[in-house]
Amino acid sequence: MAERNQLQALAAELGNAERVVVFTGAGMSTESGIPDFRSPGGLWSRFKPVEYQDYLVSESARHQAWEMLLEIDRDWSAVSPNRGHEAIARLVNLGIVTHVITQNIDGLHQASGVPQQQVIELHGTSKYAHCLDCRTRYELAPLKAQFVAEGVAPRCDTCGGLVKLAVISFGEPMPEGPMAEADAAIQQCDLCLAIGSSLQVYPAAGFPILAKRNGARLVILNREPTELDDIADLVINDEIGPTLESVIGQQSAMGS
Ligand code: NAD
Ligand code: ZN
Repeated sequence: MAERNQLQALAAELGNAERVVVFTGAGMSTESGIPDFRSPGGLWSRFKPVEYQDYLVSESARHQAWEMLLEIDRDWSAVSPNRGHEAIARLVNLGIVTHVITQNIDGLHQASGVPQQQVIELHGTSKYAHCLDCRTRYELAPLKAQFVAEGVAPRCDTCGGLVKLAVISFGEPMPEGPMAEADAAIQQCDLCLAIGSSLQVYPAAGFPILAKRNGARLVILNREPTELDDIADLVINDEIGPTLESVIGQQSAMGS
């Protein structure tokens, strides 16, 4: 467990801030049973992810991507938000946290009760698919059933374009809307709380740096050191769920 004075320091940071932005990475969801990027048994250790350019030009790459999606589904079908997600949702509902910027594609912040409009998904979502040309949205269940029956990657009913899971693939441009929303949220915050991210993947990791440059405070909560510890005002190396749960408890007590 983190030192008591570190927990108090985090509670004080939250108490002193008016507009907090939470920035999360894969470590946020490990307590829900989704392995992070580097762990053995993680998805990426079993599959080589399909790159965006290959998806555009190769039927076999598209086939592989849809096979991978069926596998993700089997792994993630029973996952639910953990204590860390719930603590963050409480801070959002108390009006302390304005936005959650996430690199995760699992939809667990929304599932824990953070309103969709306050979650900014920098790397897209695994919850639906869309046409790469006209952006028509497709629900996954019928697409999966069609893929299992016919064995070919889906095409758009409206324009014939390629339909892909709405996750940002390696080599795919970052989504303009969420990037702009994240930028605006960061410009307005006075505290950025980076949780469960190694802070190595760019441009996402640029947001905590931007917060700091704009004069906000930066707090990092991660089991191990990160790339940005040197510029942080407070670093807590511990497990996310228990740490947030105990601090949010203090937070409610301070507010009452
Ligand atoms: P990362 O794997 O690079 O870093 C995760 C960090 O979280 C690690 O430093 C790890 O030590 C820490 N961590 C793991 N569990 C923890 C816990 N319970 N308590 C405290 N710390 C914990 O993840 P990243 O920075 O998000 O970058 C990886 C990329 O992979 C991202 O682009 C993301 O989109 C993608 N990804 C997403 C998911 C998901 O949606 N859940 C899962 C795997 C990978
Ligand atoms: Zn289309």
